Amino acid sequence: MNDFDEPDRLHSAHVPIRRGSFRKLEWWKPTPARRVLVLAWTCDCQAGFYELCQSGGLAFIRRTVQKDGEPEIAETHRWSVRQGWATWFDLLTGEVR
Ligand SMILES: [Zn+2]
Repeated sequence: MNDFDEPDRLHSAHVPIRRGSFRKLEWWKPTPARRVLVLAWTCDCQAGFYELCQSGGLAFIRRTVQKDGEPEIAETHRWSVRQGWATWFDLLTGEVR
């Protein structure tokens, strides 16, 4: 992988590539939300990146897959913010995807 070779680029957290077993999140078409606060995000140097979002007191994870044309966006169910963060850390450690 050559993604990390650009010396001047600032990287955010990277989603680990995990070969073992992981819990699969359910991904849905994005639900329009009025005010979305992005609490955390992973690095967009990867083909797929994730954002932990909060809207109306609930949290969810948004996944963006960057393709040649339009990016493909999907979202999880809404959780409590506490569960959102817990799932976020599972994502960063490769426990869920
Ligand atoms: Zn990066």
